Amino acid sequence: MTRVFDEDLHHGIETRAVHAGQKPDEVTGAIMPPVYQTSTYVQDGIGRHKGFEYARTRNATRDALERNVAALEGCQFGHAFSSGMAATDAVLKLLSAGDHVICEENVYGGTHRLMEQVFVRMGMTFSFVETRNLEDLEKALRPETRMIFVETPTNPMMRLVDLDAAGKLAKSVGALLAVDNTFATPYFQTPLKYGADLILHSTTKFLNGHSDVVGGMVLTNDEELSEKLAFLQNAAGAIPGPWDAWLTLRGTKTLALRMKRHDESGRKVAQWLVEHPGVDKVYYPGLRDHPQHELAKAQMTGFGGMMSLELGDPGRAHRLAESTEIFALAESLGGVESLIGHPASMTHASVPREMRAAMGLTDSLVRLSVGIEDVDDLIEDLDRAMKLT
Ligand SMILES: *Cc1c(COP(=O)(O)O)cnc(C)c1O
Repeated sequence: MTRVFDEDLHHGIETRAVHAGQKPDEVTGAIMPPVYQTSTYVQDGIGRHKGFEYARTRNATRDALERNVAALEGCQFGHAFSSGMAATDAVLKLLSAGDHVICEENVYGGTHRLMEQVFVRMGMTFSFVETRNLEDLEKALRPETRMIFVETPTNPMMRLVDLDAAGKLAKSVGALLAVDNTFATPYFQTPLKYGADLILHSTTKFLNGHSDVVGGMVLTNDEELSEKLAFLQNAAGAIPGPWDAWLTLRGTKTLALRMKRHDESGRKVAQWLVEHPGVDKVYYPGLRDHPQHELAKAQMTGFGGMMSLELGDPGRAHRLAESTEIFALAESLGGVESLIGHPASMTHASVPREMRAAMGLTDSLVRLSVGIEDVDDLIEDLDRAMKLT
């Protein structure tokens, strides 16, 4: 098991992003951790080795990434997976048949699919509720509830969950609180502070930030949970290779710089959209009229570059998504480049239509991931495309 280096936790997040989990190579002094491209390790004698036996169990490049992201979240333990979904899969495998999970209804589409189409078959039960309504969350509790699984802000409706309240509720019934922190990242929100037991990331998004790796992480401060996660990494094997770990580690070094820029430009783009007569509604927690703006200010230190806009007409949504030139039409988010997407037919196509409708995820909703390009260019791009809708 790889525990975070103690000294890393004393530094500010900018310093942790650059240095945590990495020490110069003892043999050569190389400042960057090597890509340990190996499947096995030579042993000194039977049962005598350097802590590394087989690369599914442990790899030193992966160790560095795990310690780095754990330090970013202020946690003791990190576990890297081959994708965000593999990380979610491992978290659900901490539970057993008969266990009940309460999940945010506007959770990532793939998370909903994994729960409903895989874990239900294994005998687990799920209640999808609007976790921003704490009474709904409380009402969904059952004696067999073992986990509350939330995402905040949610994708793509940008709803918030009161982490402090969710943490207290989970504690009161002895359930685990799992928080998918992919959207906010530890730069803007640290769920551990609010009692989260498990923090998940699709590192594919902001943590790596360069749209060139698919990966996932689970962070925890609980040694027993960490042991179970390490067991699952080894037993089920959904681990990242050393190259992916290395690339992701290169991405996290600039997390602070990128998040500041996503936030700065995100606020400008959201404000521009609010003032545009062709936009019915903008979902962005940084806007003063977002219904949970006060909560956003209380539990987040910034709002980032993710937002959705309602155009009131599916045809216009399609035309906008297909007309931008800098904003590329693509799934995913959180990279340096700006992306535009149509959640109903792309990221959330696997969510049943009635469920989409209930949460306001209409066919005329467009999602933006505002990148780090010149924000004036981005606004000009949207302006030009809006005229074509
Ligand atoms: C993308 C995403 C996932 C899934 O991660 P992958 O790396 O694509 O497997 C999970 N949660 C959120 C919030 C995401 O955006």
